Amino acid sequence: MSGEDMKLVVVGAAGRMGQTLIRTIHAMQGVRLFAAVERAGSPFVGRDAGDVAGLGPIGIAITDQPLEAFVEAEGVLDFTSPAASVEFSVLSAQARIVHVIGTTGCSAADEERFSAAGRHARIVKSGNMSLGVNLLGVLTEQAARALGAADWDIEILEMHHKHKVDAPSGTALLLGQAAAKGRAVDLDAQSVRVRDGHTGARTAGTIGFATLRGGSVIGEHSVILAGEGEQVTLSHSATDRSIFARGAVTAALWARDRKPGFYSMLDVLGLS
Ligand code: NAP
Repeated sequence: MSGEDMKLVVVGAAGRMGQTLIRTIHAMQGVRLFAAVERAGSPFVGRDAGDVAGLGPIGIAITDQPLEAFVEAEGVLDFTSPAASVEFSVLSAQARIVHVIGTTGCSAADEERFSAAGRHARIVKSGNMSLGVNLLGVLTEQAARALGAADWDIEILEMHHKHKVDAPSGTALLLGQAAAKGRAVDLDAQSVRVRDGHTGARTAGTIGFATLRGGSVIGEHSVILAGEGEQVTLSHSATDRSIFARGAVTAALWARDRKPGFYSMLDVLGLS
């Protein structure tokens, strides 16, 4: 392990998570902000990244030239959009560095591109970078295994702020995958994403999702296991985006000395 601070690039630097990442890197040991990237044409290009994140000036101007930044850096923290993360994964593979991807709403084709990039880059990707949610995933898998599908129905409820563009959330899908794993079923075949009108009775063994959007909610998730005459609810509340940012930095430090590959937060946290 190198004794030098790990040089990190934040892409999507002016976004909600980008700003949180810049403040978190500033506050954490063992890492330093090397560059901050926004898209070409963004009004934030050329502005001081610390100013944008509310830290005051730090002498790093936001750039629209990611590859130049990546080749000199050791890791990229990426909470942007699916199309942007796919492009960044090509560049992180070229630069053979660590790429931590928190972006949600990615398609199966996007996931294939990330896996391919993992031949040269060290990719860590998760729909939720917090310790609490990853532990919740492990507990959900255990509960789903213990409480059989014939008698127990699983519903996943989430709420996020009104600006969120994808549904269900990456975290709800992570929890759904954990429940499906516990039941040894394929989530795509069992999930019910929407209910409207005369739906008929609930089909045993399905995993339901319900999505709420409004206000400034950072992230609320509940896994409800409903049986006859009793109900178990496992839940997590995020009250500060820094939990995701600290998780992302922890993932970058963990991946620093790993081989190229495609890893999850469960690997980082020793929960896999
Ligand atoms: P946001 O505020 O919209 O920030 C996204 C930022 O990325 C924006 O500044 C956006 O710029 C920028 N961006 C988009 N395409 C880009 C490109 N090609 N090059 C450079 N910058 C680009 O969104 P957010 O709330 O921070 O969330 C971002 C993503 O992280 C979402 O997918 C969200 O669901 C996910 N998320 C994941 C976790 C987790 O733990 N895994 C936690 C929180 C959020 P423009 O405004 O110019 O498009």
